[in-house]
Amino acid sequence: MMGDHGISTDQISLNDVIWFKPISLGAMNLQIQWRQVRLPLIHAFTIAHGTSDFRINTIVSIQHQGITGFGLAAPNPRYGETPTTTDQALHRIAMMLPENPLAIRSIMHKVNQHIEGAYAAKAAVDMALHDWLGKSLDAPLHYIWGIDATQIAPTSMTIGVDTPEKVQKKVREVPQFKVLKIKLNGERDRELIQAIRDVTDQPLRVDANEGWRDKTTALKEIEWLATQGVELIEQPMKAKFWGEHAWLKERSPLPLIADEALDGQGDMTALANAYHGINIKLMKCGGLLPAMDLISQARAFGMSMMLGCMVESSLGIAAAAQIAPLVDYVDLDGHLLIRDDPFLGPRLEKGRLQVPQRPGLGALERLAH
Ligand code: MG
Repeated sequence: MMGDHGISTDQISLNDVIWFKPISLGAMNLQIQWRQVRLPLIHAFTIAHGTSDFRINTIVSIQHQGITGFGLAAPNPRYGETPTTTDQALHRIAMMLPENPLAIRSIMHKVNQHIEGAYAAKAAVDMALHDWLGKSLDAPLHYIWGIDATQIAPTSMTIGVDTPEKVQKKVREVPQFKVLKIKLNGERDRELIQAIRDVTDQPLRVDANEGWRDKTTALKEIEWLATQGVELIEQPMKAKFWGEHAWLKERSPLPLIADEALDGQGDMTALANAYHGINIKLMKCGGLLPAMDLISQARAFGMSMMLGCMVESSLGIAAAAQIAPLVDYVDLDGHLLIRDDPFLGPRLEKGRLQVPQRPGLGALERLAH
């Protein structure tokens, strides 16, 4: 079977999966551990890059003074990251951690100076440190950062590429969501949208995942989608097509959001030239601090912001929820696509995530299953 982005899932052998056997490293007074978990998907998931039926996430814990902070890595092969590269990066990061976990920005600055990429591993450590901080102060992270949890926008729910009948079935299963995100891949796009329109008139967002082959095709499709109650388009063409996206931005009747075109801190000048907005994901930028930096940058450029996720445990969703009230579009549904979630995270109420009011990131570990 092919994995999410064309990588064969056969390449992820059982040897890569450390089933609840934590690795423990670190200084005397600070312990970092991690383990990999296999998360089965509710539906085999197809996007423009391929199909798969499970994900491997890595759960990181940082213990200090009797308090444990948790963080999550959901590495994505599209960005050259796998459970194995994440494991390797975590070994290196573990050796850099100081005895005191409070100076998070300084710690992550040092990590970034020594380790390139490995954003999922960095995100996990950044999250675990913030979870530890919040728990040690007995306050949710969004309190500490002065974020109003009531201002969160409804989350979209993602519908993967499938046959028109199956897509209709999936849409009927999720009436509680106020907006749907439809994955298209340049093949049966109009047929799928028409099938969806036969069963719902909810607003739609479209994610082409780089699937349209050129700018004229993309423009033609977007002009048609604008007549179908679609409100934005994510990553129309290949991320490297900067010039084509700039051309498209001048003509598109719908806002264009960069997803695959943004990893790390990106180049905001280039992004603003080619897109109306950016999709920020903790796993692409390396955690909560870089995500906050991206939000500030995007604001300065007058760009709109989406906060997205990978297919991942509620632990990662709880982290993203802390800052979700700061963005225009919330796309935090990755935990709803898996079974056997090792964490309990934000509740969903009338299509909105409820930002957890528990200390730290507010995710609760379920007992090992
Ligand atoms: Mg996307």
